[in-house]
Amino acid sequence: MTESDLKFRVNMIAVGDELLEGRTADTNSGRIQRALGQHAVQVVGIQVVPDTKEAIHTALQRTAAGDIVFMTGGLGSTPDDLTRDMVASWAAVELIQDDEVRRQLEQRWAKLGRKAGVGVHRQCQVPQGMTALTNPVGSAPGLVGRLKDRILVMLPGVPDEMIGLLPLVMQWLGEQGYLPAARQILLWRTGQIAELALVRKLDDIRSAHPRLHWSWWLTEWGVDVRLAAEPGHIEAQAQLAAVNDPVTAALGHLVYSRRMETLPEVVQKMMIERGLTLSVAESCTAGMIGAKLTDLAGSSAFFKGGILAYSNDIKQELLGVPAEILEEHGAVCGPVVQAMAEGAKQRLGTDFALAVSGISGPDGGHVDKPVGTTWMAVAGPEKTFTQVYRFPGDRHRNRMLTVASVVDSLRRSLEFGSDQSPWRSGDSWCTPASGRTK
Ligand code: ATP
Repeated sequence: MTESDLKFRVNMIAVGDELLEGRTADTNSGRIQRALGQHAVQVVGIQVVPDTKEAIHTALQRTAAGDIVFMTGGLGSTPDDLTRDMVASWAAVELIQDDEVRRQLEQRWAKLGRKAGVGVHRQCQVPQGMTALTNPVGSAPGLVGRLKDRILVMLPGVPDEMIGLLPLVMQWLGEQGYLPAARQILLWRTGQIAELALVRKLDDIRSAHPRLHWSWWLTEWGVDVRLAAEPGHIEAQAQLAAVNDPVTAALGHLVYSRRMETLPEVVQKMMIERGLTLSVAESCTAGMIGAKLTDLAGSSAFFKGGILAYSNDIKQELLGVPAEILEEHGAVCGPVVQAMAEGAKQRLGTDFALAVSGISGPDGGHVDKPVGTTWMAVAGPEKTFTQVYRFPGDRHRNRMLTVASVVDSLRRSLEFGSDQSPWRSGDSWCTPASGRTK
């Protein structure tokens, strides 16, 4: 294979019975696509195949010379982990014991105070001509190399392990010259807006710039807008530069980041930089906000804790919500979330507090408070702001949207200033009849 044979085509093979039985969704292929996103490669196919020799062999046969072939799964040490054996037999090469891999695996086990098990023998086997990449997360190494006129990348199936190895794989592909130049890409990560409403906001700019490749997708925290220009297309690159400011202006306060970082990462950074602390009072989400805000290492520098006040008794006893408010308005209303946030802020001694109370469904809705009605409050050092949302989803989705919205509201409060409401008129998810302040 010569350099000119490289076509920058990508073929993916996800191996695993569980992927075909509906037990596990193939998320690995998507993660690989995203890692490749900046490079002008063409993903020509994703094959999901069972743990059988025939299926893996047939999938490899379906790839073409010059392809970059990503394989995930089947690299473990159990008898149904067949990927490395099948790659070796398909390419007609030997499996070689890699002493460096063995040394690293033994060291890994020793650190855990244990001796390497029998499985180590298989995990040290590398098809001749391939190189092992040390797995920063788990035991199975990644394997990369050129075999049978393809560029082969073999990764463990466990998503965290696969994701941990991806930067090393991308680095290796780049160093070997197997990837085309990176595309110029602009990214806006937005929160608290539906996909279609976001696309509509950009209609005029899109029709004025037809040479650009626009894409948007839903994330856990909102909607991402991505704009790309192919390398070498001078006109498209000029359009990309020209469009940055108008898009940024059109999206305004909806944008929480221009980089590949999550909303909790943004909030954590802002809180720590300013030396601020946070507590939460959660009713309908029952701990989900706290869990999400503490996913990242280092969160204890700003997140102090929370009160999981699912019942009215707990709202009263642990947060000091007055019984009269609960009796008069019910648990899902502005005054209750205001009292919850202020109770948490005061009792946990923090600078900010978030509170939510909503009807996630499927039961519990009524005419003036249908399922999806959710009140939230952001209490800052001086003021507390409340807002009502009407989420359109099922129980799970409504709770997810609640978490994303309240965390984004905190981000806005930090951006706008805590004496300003985090909500603006025209915010599509909020109803106009709120924004009560103390
Ligand atoms: P192990 O050492 O655990 O055997 P492995 O590389 O052999 O690792 P598999 O056994 O194929 O990987 O998969 C391990 C687990 O990883 C599966 O049970 C499944 O939950 C998850 N997994 C495998 N492939 C995928 C995929 N394509 N997308 C998402 N999850 C996956």
